[in-house]
Amino acid sequence: MPGKGLLERLENGGSVLVAEGYLWEFERRGYIQQGAHVPEVVLEHPELVKVMHEEFVHAGTDVCEAFTYYGNREKLRFIGREDDLEKLNRMALKMAREVADKTGTLMAGGICNTGVYQPDQPETHDKVRAMYKEQVEWAVDEGADYMIAETIDSLGEAKLALETIQQYGKGMPAVLTLACYIPDETTDEVPIVEACRTLEELGAAVVGLNCGRGPKTMLPLLREIRKACKGPIAALPVTYRTREDCRTFMSLKDPDTGKYAYPINLASCLCSREEIREFAEEAKAIGVNYIGLCCGNAPNYFRELAEVYGRTPEACRYRPNMSFNYIFGDTEKTEQYDAKKLRQYMVTGKE
Ligand SMILES: [Zn+2]
Repeated sequence: MPGKGLLERLENGGSVLVAEGYLWEFERRGYIQQGAHVPEVVLEHPELVKVMHEEFVHAGTDVCEAFTYYGNREKLRFIGREDDLEKLNRMALKMAREVADKTGTLMAGGICNTGVYQPDQPETHDKVRAMYKEQVEWAVDEGADYMIAETIDSLGEAKLALETIQQYGKGMPAVLTLACYIPDETTDEVPIVEACRTLEELGAAVVGLNCGRGPKTMLPLLREIRKACKGPIAALPVTYRTREDCRTFMSLKDPDTGKYAYPINLASCLCSREEIREFAEEAKAIGVNYIGLCCGNAPNYFRELAEVYGRTPEACRYRPNMSFNYIFGDTEKTEQYDAKKLRQYMVTGKE
C-alpha cells in the first residue's frame, strides 16, 4: 500500500519533519566548497549523499529532499559544469527516491533562489522560469512526492517558483519557504507575513520560513504567520544563536574575537541541543506543523525535534543517558569507581 502523501500527513493537525542543511553539513565534512556552494558531492561521492538521507531518516525526518540545492543551471554554469546539470539533478532525485521508498518517507524535489532574479528586469524573470521549469520537470520524471521552493528572499521570485510548480509539476503540492533576513520583509520589500499569506492564497500547500534566521529570531515571525495563514506553516531555522541585534547567522559575531563568524567560524555560535528542543516546543505550541532545521542541522539536533513532535526514530535508542556513566552517573555506580576525585579534576578543580 502506498504511504501517505504530504497533504494527508498534514491533515487533522498532523506534522511533517524535514531535515535540511545538507549543503552546510557536506561543507563541514569536506565535500563541498564554501563560496559557490554547489552540491558537487552528488556527482563525486553519491554514496555519501545516500548515507546522509539514511542518517536523517534514522534521526527522524519524514522527508528525503533531493540534494539539488544550488544545483541549478546558473550555479553549474558559474563553476563550469553546466553539462552536468541534468545528471546532477537526476542522480540526486533518484537517490532521495530510493531511500524514501526503502524507509517509507516522502521524497521532495527542491528549487531555490537563483541569484538571477531582478524585480524590474522582466528578461531575468524568463531566465528564472526556465531554470525552475527544467528542475521541476526532472523532479516529476523521477517521481517526487512534492516540490520545495526554498530560501527565496523576494516575493516576486517566490511567485515565479510557485507558478512554475503549478504549471509543470503535474499536480505536485508546493511548499514555499522564504528566507527572511534582518528586516521583517522580503527583499522586494513586502512584509514577510503578508508574503506568506499571498503565497498561500495563490495555492502553496505550505508556506513559511527557512534558513537565514536561527530559532530565537524566527519564532516571533512564526507567531504572526500562524495568525495570518490558514493552512500548514513551515519553520526551518539555522542552528545558530541569532538574537535581536544579530537576527541572521550572517550577522553573528564570534564571542571571543568580535569578528563576523559567517561563514567559517560559525561553530562559535552554535545552538545547544536544549535550545533546539526549546525551539521545537515553542514551534509546536504556536502550531507549526511542517518543521525542520536548515544550515547547521545534524542528526543529534534533529532527534530533539523528532522527540518533541512525538516521534521515536531509531536514533532515540541512543539518546544520552548519563546515569550509565561511571564518572557522572548514579552515585551508587560512581562510588565504586571513586569518581569523586575525577569529577573534581574535570569539573570543579581541587578543593
Ligand atoms: Zn540554510
